[in-house]
Amino acid sequence: MSDTQAIKQKILELKKEKNALILAHYYQPLEVQDVADHVCDSFEMAKLARGAAQSIVVICGVVFMGESAKILNPDKKILIPVADAGCPMADMVTPEDVIRLRKEHPDAAVVCYVNSSAAVKAVSDICCTSSSVLKVVRSLKERKIIFIPDKNLGSYVAKMVPEKEFILFNGFCPAHNRISESDVLAAKSAHPGSVFAAHPECREEVLRHADFIGSTSQILEYARSSSAEAVIIGTEEGVLERLRKELPDKKIFSVAPNFICRNMKKTGLTELYNCLINEQTEVTLAPEEIAAAKSSLDRMVSI
Ligand code: SF4
Repeated sequence: MSDTQAIKQKILELKKEKNALILAHYYQPLEVQDVADHVCDSFEMAKLARGAAQSIVVICGVVFMGESAKILNPDKKILIPVADAGCPMADMVTPEDVIRLRKEHPDAAVVCYVNSSAAVKAVSDICCTSSSVLKVVRSLKERKIIFIPDKNLGSYVAKMVPEKEFILFNGFCPAHNRISESDVLAAKSAHPGSVFAAHPECREEVLRHADFIGSTSQILEYARSSSAEAVIIGTEEGVLERLRKELPDKKIFSVAPNFICRNMKKTGLTELYNCLINEQTEVTLAPEEIAAAKSSLDRMVSI
């Protein structure tokens, strides 16, 4: 048995012994995805954490995902393997920014992308993910929307929902925002006949060339069901690796080299094993913060 197989085996045994549920994001390394009970995007993660029967939930992802799981399951022990695996985009917006924007636009609803801290969710009206965002925005009675923190996702939504007025915050995902139009054109010319599926955290100049725009799970579904023999993927490489494993007869390409979220890659099998054995690091939030942030997450999940 190789070292990798041995540690995977130990993780699976510990998971059973501790009655733990392991949820891994699609951007996690493939070997972490292999030992997870579910591999999902942040929307599915929020729903699965809410319905979990296990007393311990391990979130293999970044910090805000652990916080969302804690908000939805305050009585469960929520663990994250790497305490400093943050999301740079989530860190770009503060509760003070939201309060200031609310004062400037008192008639607007605040829609916050799930990639935000619990403190920011607590001062927002409703949360959204990239798979639920259109539904969430269309469900609101307010015509004016303050959208935080991702300006790229916000611009995409503004285009798709022209009947609303948007005030966009200036945040972005460093991994997706790095991709340029010339990357797309180079990938298309290197792989003629391919279709291009992009995540809406990419810039407008990139999305303009996409045959499909959607969340990570929607991109996976599109690649599986597309009749095209080759697909160029415009999101983090974890999705690419998964598709290559799942669809060996299809050609799967990345839109650009090194399309990686470094924080997502901080979690490996060793970190996950240590997390389970030591039951560390536990996500803790003040009860008032949980109560305040819960309504915006609950509202999203119910939609
Ligand atoms: S891919 Fe971007 S938005 Fe997602 S966790 Fe990494 S930095 Fe944050």
